[in-house]
Amino acid sequence: MAAASGNDLEKIAEQVRTCTKCPLHEGRKLTVPGDGPAYAEIMIVGEGPGVQEDLSGHPFVGSAGKLLTRLLGSIGLERSDVFITNIVKCRPPNNRPPRSGEAEECTRSYLEPQIRIIDPKIIVPLGTPAINWVMGEEYSATTVHGKVFRKGERLIVPLYHPAAALYDAKLEATMMEDVKVLRRVLDGGYSETSVTTIAQ
Ligand code: URA
Ligand code: SF4
Repeated sequence: MAAASGNDLEKIAEQVRTCTKCPLHEGRKLTVPGDGPAYAEIMIVGEGPGVQEDLSGHPFVGSAGKLLTRLLGSIGLERSDVFITNIVKCRPPNNRPPRSGEAEECTRSYLEPQIRIIDPKIIVPLGTPAINWVMGEEYSATTVHGKVFRKGERLIVPLYHPAAALYDAKLEATMMEDVKVLRRVLDGGYSETSVTTIAQ
């Protein structure tokens, strides 16, 4: 396959910026296509832009984003080392979860092509809606956080959504532990026996 290209990612971002394929375009200020390099080994997938993201055009820049930045920093990663994006690229009204039609339209048009271009070694879905999209409906953050899965060629390390940990010190401590698994997977320092293979 051709090498991952930043131009291809920029083309997708351009399409997102003028997209009217689902009703979420009506309430957005800015679209949030995603940030990061085409060569990223890790792709982080959240749910959808919140108020700060809608105003800035960048993912995870509000308080949940600050926690995400700290989590990454704790395992020696900069935000610019990873590609960060969401299931939907426009903010749902009042931060409600994206509806299934919106998520289907947006992921088919943009997230799936982004994943094909970047071809990350590891996908990190944050919170149950992203976990459901990446892994399947039968999984939830409570049951799979901090574990390692294989789906085809790709590894998946699901985590809680950082917004859930903002006012919950215990959950934040759990996330700080869980993210260490990501470091081990990146370094190849995990045991194959601890990886669960799931259907593609
Ligand atoms: N929550 C998300 O799921 N995504 C963002 O970009 C910000 C907050
Ligand atoms: Fe287009 Fe996605 Fe925004 Fe819907 S959420 S308008 S599909 S970019």
